[in-house]
Amino acid sequence: MRTNWTGSAGDPVWIRPDWSTDRVRGIFSFREGGVSDAPYQSLNVGYHVGDDAAAVTENRRRCAEKIGATLEDLVVPEQVHGAGVAVVTEAHRGRGSTPAFPPIPGVDGVVSNVPGLTLTIMAADCVPMLFYDATAGVIGAAHSGWRGTVSHISREVLRTMSEAFSSRPEDVDVWLGPSIRRCCYEVDERVAQPVAESFGHGPLLPRHARPGKYLLSLQACIRMDLQSAGVSEEHIHDVGVCTACHTHVLYSHRAEHGRTGRLLGAIRLA
Ligand SMILES: [Zn+2]
Repeated sequence: MRTNWTGSAGDPVWIRPDWSTDRVRGIFSFREGGVSDAPYQSLNVGYHVGDDAAAVTENRRRCAEKIGATLEDLVVPEQVHGAGVAVVTEAHRGRGSTPAFPPIPGVDGVVSNVPGLTLTIMAADCVPMLFYDATAGVIGAAHSGWRGTVSHISREVLRTMSEAFSSRPEDVDVWLGPSIRRCCYEVDERVAQPVAESFGHGPLLPRHARPGKYLLSLQACIRMDLQSAGVSEEHIHDVGVCTACHTHVLYSHRAEHGRTGRLLGAIRLA
């Protein structure tokens, strides 16, 4: 895993995709290094979870700074657990960055080729994903919970990158950020059935002591989708960190019973 994840709860920890180029910068934030109080301590970037808005704004500003951006550069999709993806232009700069500017409505993914625009995604168990095509000079960010995953949002991101910018999946590098993993993600038939219809039973592990319950790997589903769309295995980077296992440094909606913050995935072209 080529990241600076340390697992420590001391100084802020971050995961930075290692793209070995100055043309793009990305980040997945953790809990440390912000100003929010419990239960959002401390780097919560979600306004909608009940946290103090001024604290969230400061936290977002700090996250932006980590990749050389400002708060005003952020572009935030509404995130409705669907598969909609928007092409973002200069006109969208700052959308959703603070409560004064509404987010890009009705989408869970954004793509762009505009330098300086900072595409963001929020998550607390759902899989935050960052996309980079160095050849076409295109970036993307998306959010894939179980609904988005069975709606194939990762393929929709690739399709939108291809349609709008002639990006080819074989040139795209994808990072899957901290998210709930099969160790902790128990689902019932309501989720298992659509997952099995789309991805087979491979990503689902039946719990023998708990009839009708399964442990689900969203990451395995997403990997199948990406590879079927033409992304090569070596271009898929899964940071491998479970949010629910690490609530001392990450936010987990499931493990913290809904009362928690959101981490940020962000990406920008230089
Ligand atoms: Zn876990």
